[in-house]
Amino acid sequence: MDAHERGDADSKLTGLLARVLGPVGPEVTCEQCFELLDQYVELEVSGAHADARLPGMQAHLEGCPACHEDYESLRDFVAGTPAPRRDADRSWRG
Ligand SMILES: [Zn+2]
Repeated sequence: MDAHERGDADSKLTGLLARVLGPVGPEVTCEQCFELLDQYVELEVSGAHADARLPGMQAHLEGCPACHEDYESLRDFVAGTPAPRRDADRSWRG
């Protein structure tokens, strides 16, 4: 492999783009993750197989703390989970 280095920048770039844009590669960038997060969370909250519909998202979320944080707060929001603090502080009736 080291003997035949062709220095083919074009094919290298194409391969990179294919990895980023193509549906084949399971890898998702933070940008894609952010764009798909809405769909992903909605699918998951509705009980659908989110990871099957949007492959790579779960793997990215597991390996990317920043996106995982967004994912968790968005999921809480979509799921309509009320903040526990709000209920506790709502003691205006005494
Ligand atoms: Zn990320």
